[in-house]
Amino acid sequence: MIHNFNAGPSALPKEVFEEASRAVLDFNGSGLSLLEIGHRTPLFEPVMAEARALVKELMQLGDDFEALFLHGGATTQFMQVPMNLLNEQEVAAYTETGTWANKAIKEAKLFGHVEIAGSGKESNYMALPKHLSVSPTSAYLHITTNETIAGTQWQDIPYDCGVPLVADMSSDIFSRQLDFKRFGLMYAGAQKNMGAAGVNIVVIDKNILGKVNRVIPTILDYRNHIKEASMLNTPPVFAVYVALLTLRWVKKNGGLAEMERRNTAKAELLYNTIDRFPLYRGLVHKADRSKMNAVFVIDNPQLEKEFQETCKANGMVGVKGHRSVGGFRVSMYNAVTIESVSALCSLMETFATQKG
Ligand SMILES: *Cc1c(COP(=O)(O)O)cnc(C)c1O
Repeated sequence: MIHNFNAGPSALPKEVFEEASRAVLDFNGSGLSLLEIGHRTPLFEPVMAEARALVKELMQLGDDFEALFLHGGATTQFMQVPMNLLNEQEVAAYTETGTWANKAIKEAKLFGHVEIAGSGKESNYMALPKHLSVSPTSAYLHITTNETIAGTQWQDIPYDCGVPLVADMSSDIFSRQLDFKRFGLMYAGAQKNMGAAGVNIVVIDKNILGKVNRVIPTILDYRNHIKEASMLNTPPVFAVYVALLTLRWVKKNGGLAEMERRNTAKAELLYNTIDRFPLYRGLVHKADRSKMNAVFVIDNPQLEKEFQETCKANGMVGVKGHRSVGGFRVSMYNAVTIESVSALCSLMETFATQKG
């Protein structure tokens, strides 16, 4: 049996893979593949409509918000957000919390000024900033709710920052309950927690749009996508369908409350194991630990290698840490079961008892 702890693309529910496979061969009994039908047809249009509606339903959002499925990965949003929200002479506030935040900051500087509202740099991004300072004239505040590489996650969202709150939720979207209506814009590449690579989810409070004076290319202007119901051009139909199946699975399994309960249980189990054995050293400040990506090291290079091999021999896939951090990273997205995390914890316990 394989236990998949990949950071992204990553585990999805088996029934999603099965249903997506069937749709490639014969979509809804049409005799045609999902991949060979027009997107503006009565076969595909309901897919997009249901996916957009489910995003809003799971997030409990009203008419002010629009959910879009766009191309280009979360990385495209690093530039599309400031292009649509930040005037050249204005400032946007960003939290500097690691690799992904820094990529977002770099792109924002192409469009306007950036102020760092808080930084985790001093701790090598192993802790999140405790106090934020956001100018009231900032166009928005950008946070990365979960830093996939460092393994930090915002537990207290800075809703009251006084300006629209923009969030990169690529690696924890739909993993927990938040007060989503208090965000101005949320975006996520689908391939971590909610689908196949090739599509982003962008959720926007329409009231924050229309305030920049630059010319925005048609395909990059959120307003055009809203007007065209997320079908401005051909959407990545397969990726949208996999996202729809994953959203249905989340709903059927109890929605975000149940996802949060499961993710909390998995994370507690793993962090308790890390903390119980001195062989393992968690890197992240405890209050900022991510429930999605747990990062730890083994300080002995020989044992580190042996642990890696033990994981491999036992079907534990994807636990090697990101090259910039080293050690180990265990990703526990929605589709990773408590049984998988439990199996890894047993292995860690046995290994530490024998070698520690
Ligand atoms: C993976 C990731 C990205 C980049 O996503 P792409 O879809 O590959 O562009 C951005 N932000 C965070 C937090 C991520 O985890």
